[in-house]
Amino acid sequence: MKWKQQIHGMKAYQPGKPIEEVKKMYGLDEVVKLASNENPFGSSPKVKAFLQQGETNHAIYPDGYAQDLRTAVANHLGVKETELIFGNGSDDLIAIITRALLYPGVNTVMADPSFSQYWHNAEIEGAEVRKVPCIEGRHDLEAMLEAIDENTSVVWVCSPNNPTGTIVTDAELQGFLKQVPSDVLVVLDEAYIEYVNDPAHENTLKYFRQYENVILLRTFSKAYGLASFRVGYGIAQEQTIAKLDPVRAPFNNTILSQKVAAIALEDQAYIEHCREANEKGKQQFVTWCEKQGLHYYPSQTNFVLFEVKADSNTVFEEMMKKGFIIRSGAALGAPGYIRVTIGTEEQNAKFLSLLEEVLYEQGVLA
Ligand SMILES: *Cc1c(COP(=O)(O)O)cnc(C)c1O
Repeated sequence: MKWKQQIHGMKAYQPGKPIEEVKKMYGLDEVVKLASNENPFGSSPKVKAFLQQGETNHAIYPDGYAQDLRTAVANHLGVKETELIFGNGSDDLIAIITRALLYPGVNTVMADPSFSQYWHNAEIEGAEVRKVPCIEGRHDLEAMLEAIDENTSVVWVCSPNNPTGTIVTDAELQGFLKQVPSDVLVVLDEAYIEYVNDPAHENTLKYFRQYENVILLRTFSKAYGLASFRVGYGIAQEQTIAKLDPVRAPFNNTILSQKVAAIALEDQAYIEHCREANEKGKQQFVTWCEKQGLHYYPSQTNFVLFEVKADSNTVFEEMMKKGFIIRSGAALGAPGYIRVTIGTEEQNAKFLSLLEEVLYEQGVLA
């Protein structure tokens, strides 16, 4: 058949292995997944209460405009309803942006390592991908500026960055946005924004008002604990949203997902609770890494990328045998490192003690 040339040899996204599969593979009763940065505490109890009453009519199509959720998000952020676009997860928005702006002959600039969907989608559209190496896990915005030329359509800034967990500071972003040509869209992917507590990171909403060529991406998949419902959204000026909207599939969120997202958004006390628990969990990892003398990136997220001084695929396999699914840095552009989602206090403690065993076996720790 006449496949697009770009998809020859392309591989599907390799997600963290599902819990049930790992249980069967190794005959384990309990498996903990710390691989995909989901919220270990799940979603707000209000979502669970809503789901139990189960009165939704699933025979009808959802509201393609997500009106109620749109109103809730607009009120929460203090933006106009017309400044929002909803996606089937922010993955969907990445695909929509790519489809609207990238094609053979144009290029797109991103950090390396960063979120794989940026380059994956760009390659499908046949655009040239320009990966700019991070410095100490942080975006090198100067070099990213230099990589921009007259054929650049989209620049991706992932802050906090997946997989390193680092942020772009407000001062850095200000300087960067001033210099990016006004016809280049800057995508500010903020999937982990709810976890950020560094004062160097200020309210980024002001940027989409200040710059027509900025879109912010946020999601209900991480801190809100609703990954399975697939809801993400973009915030940009009206004319940008109006350009992207026709590229969106007409019913890209389900009825249920729109409802639970709105309910979860209301419960900010729950998000605050998760943020605090995450801080404590992060400290468990940081303390451990420092004790073992292993390098880690300062994380502003619910995961930590840290050095294992061993083959990261081996460590990944060995930890899986012990009932913990994590991500090998080798798969994320950070060989020699592992990326671990911060779990509950108990999960973190168990994980770290088992990791100590593995690194002992690997001859890393004495
Ligand atoms: C998880 C993640 C996403 C995708 O989230 P969904 O809303 O579930 O599609 C986007 N960007 C980054 C950086 C992520 O880590």
